[in-house]
Amino acid sequence: MKKLLSKYDGFIIDLDGVIYLDKKPFKYSKTFINELIKQNKKYVFLTNDSSLSPNEYSKLLKSEGIQCSKDQIITPINNFINLVDIKKIKNRNLMVFSSSKLKNYLIKSGIKVIKNIDNYKNAEKIIVSGNINFSYKDLMYASLCVQNGAELFATSTDNSYPTKLGNVPATGSIIAAILKTHNAKVINLGKPSKSIFSMALRTLGTNKKNTIMLGDNLITDIYGAKRNGIDSALILTGKTTKSALKNSTHSPNYILNDLKL
Ligand SMILES: [Mg+2]
Repeated sequence: MKKLLSKYDGFIIDLDGVIYLDKKPFKYSKTFINELIKQNKKYVFLTNDSSLSPNEYSKLLKSEGIQCSKDQIITPINNFINLVDIKKIKNRNLMVFSSSKLKNYLIKSGIKVIKNIDNYKNAEKIIVSGNINFSYKDLMYASLCVQNGAELFATSTDNSYPTKLGNVPATGSIIAAILKTHNAKVINLGKPSKSIFSMALRTLGTNKKNTIMLGDNLITDIYGAKRNGIDSALILTGKTTKSALKNSTHSPNYILNDLKL
């Protein structure tokens, strides 16, 4: 890790499986972030987990002694809001299938959301984001909107994410269920999309060449970094084991057991 600290100025850091598991930080996370601050390095956290708003993530991390502002948190939902701001997405007739927190965050951010499920036929686009309260009713109406021609935005296409119990279904698994009902194009707002990596780089303000992605997922983090011209380090505290790495075509620039300095 010391080598990476001297080589790179900007750090794009995944949360689940790198900084914490089940939102409980790993042993070296706090020390690692403090060292980044001490050495004046730039860092952002880039997560596909949209269950919390940037402010809530920042509060959660700070409560564990990990310093970060809400502007250093990048989620697929921020990516969506940013795409609306820069007029790549029209701000109208959106239906949201997510946690209520996330829905409220979108509304507070000025996004026009259809609130009454009975008006689902008016939806021109939908956002689907897996969460613990995602119901059959959500799945049903999301599928109906897509059949009705609504554009399908996903906060990630990850099929699973790591927990203490093992890998459990993520948004990608819900999207797969929708596509089984009606095939459609999926617009991924999360990693490995180009739009979210561009947002991370813009926020960091560092040159691509001097920036590295630290992640535990071979597709979202490692492939995502590579297709966006950024170096990567696979951290083995999350989703990927050494044996899974052997069978993968996605190869990181570095492999580290953890964030130990
Ligand atoms: Mg991860």
